[in-house]
Amino acid sequence: MAKDKTQGITVKKEDFSEWYEQVVSKCGLVDKRLEHSRGFYGFPPWGARILREIENLFEKELVDKNHFPIRTPTAIPITLLEKEKEHATGFAPEVFVITKGHGGKELEIPKVLRPTGEAVIYPYFSYWIQTYKDLPFKIFETRPSFRAERTNAIFPLLRTAEFYWIEAHTAQVDNDNADKQVKEDMSIFKKVVEDELAIPFMLFKRPEWDKFAGADYTCAYDSPLPDGKVSQIGTTHNLGTNFSKPFDVTYVDKNNRKQFCYQTSFGMGVSKILGMLAAVHGDDNGLVLPPKVAPIQIAVIPIYYKEKDKENVLKLAKKVKTKLRQFRVEIDSREDYTPGWKFNEWEMKGVPLRIEIGPKDVEKNQVVLVRRFDRNKEFIPVDKLTSKLIERKFEEITELMFAKAEENFKRAKAKNFDDILKKINAGIHLVEIPFCNSQKCIDKLKEQTIKVRGIQLFANGESSVEESVRNSQKAAEGKKCAVCGKPAKEIVWVARQY
Ligand SMILES: [Zn+2]
Repeated sequence: MAKDKTQGITVKKEDFSEWYEQVVSKCGLVDKRLEHSRGFYGFPPWGARILREIENLFEKELVDKNHFPIRTPTAIPITLLEKEKEHATGFAPEVFVITKGHGGKELEIPKVLRPTGEAVIYPYFSYWIQTYKDLPFKIFETRPSFRAERTNAIFPLLRTAEFYWIEAHTAQVDNDNADKQVKEDMSIFKKVVEDELAIPFMLFKRPEWDKFAGADYTCAYDSPLPDGKVSQIGTTHNLGTNFSKPFDVTYVDKNNRKQFCYQTSFGMGVSKILGMLAAVHGDDNGLVLPPKVAPIQIAVIPIYYKEKDKENVLKLAKKVKTKLRQFRVEIDSREDYTPGWKFNEWEMKGVPLRIEIGPKDVEKNQVVLVRRFDRNKEFIPVDKLTSKLIERKFEEITELMFAKAEENFKRAKAKNFDDILKKINAGIHLVEIPFCNSQKCIDKLKEQTIKVRGIQLFANGESSVEESVRNSQKAAEGKKCAVCGKPAKEIVWVARQY
């Protein structure tokens, strides 16, 4: 059977925007066809399963660090969102409001579709936390949230009106513990995103004017896209007592005195990360999935052209599946498709390993192992085909994927404005500059759709956010702002973002 051309990806990855739209639809990550639903997408089984696996990885780390899952409402009274003034103002332009209820009657108090969880989770914190013995109080919630994006900014998975994430919130006895929590969040993010999903990122302290509304400070994770832009795929905020005061999140200390909790929140953008998996690792043929989250990790393709070979080939395929039962293995024994068609199909879906078995392999008691990442091909004797071997192959694949993604993550330094433009326009993701922090320079960059991402954290073995900031300021001494030429205050990184 000839391969149906419309099934495959018809543009090269160089044409990123069109390629990406095709990959997320044709490889089954999202379905955009529901009418009047721009920005709200369905997830077909393949995409929903990968999303679930990404969630599983984060949830496992959170549970290991003593977080408990909770569930809280999706629609919240607008009065709650307005309790923290900065927070309400910051989110106002992005909030969907529900104004009518039963029988079309106007609601007395309109409800908002939550853009983030602080305003609904912290009232519960005030009920659930009583004394110092309850602290640290650590929870997470896996759920969709909603932000009214400009229609022309919508890009599947990377920028949507409804997005999926895990938000983890904690209450602590003091600021030191809140700072420590922020560092723990970062270690969780690194383990899952870099070590398991093979996506590189840089960690920044966002500038004051771009921090989370209501936070003391915001740390954010930026990852590179193939077109030279970056995407913020996660954030960690130290909220100080900015929310515990209006929401009355308090505890009674050892001396029987009432104290305000110090709080942190940590957002893991799981649907964005699903989009990044496609964007960062995909190639001209479709998805390339890291083994940890592939719904099917190994596709076994039996190859036979004569009826007499069928029984032996299928027998060996089943034996292989039994041997490797700890992995997600699928034998593709569909009879109305050719082996070549099947190779293309599983490649497009990003399955990390393919095992081919033909009559000659049965004779030699071997299989052919093909890696999706680079189509590397190996003959493996059936006796040597063990779980240990596959585990090692999966680790190798993940490492190779990370190395390639890291190589494609372009960074450079610039000393003046022309140099910044030249480098960003040439596809450099992040450019390091001395900066004066003036509104004028922020605006001049903004005119070129360039944003200040902030000070890089823990770049030189610093132990705290504060220390990273001090070192950045020290390094800027005697240097001139790359935008205006006046004395620089900090070393920051700039980029274009989705
Ligand atoms: Zn300046």
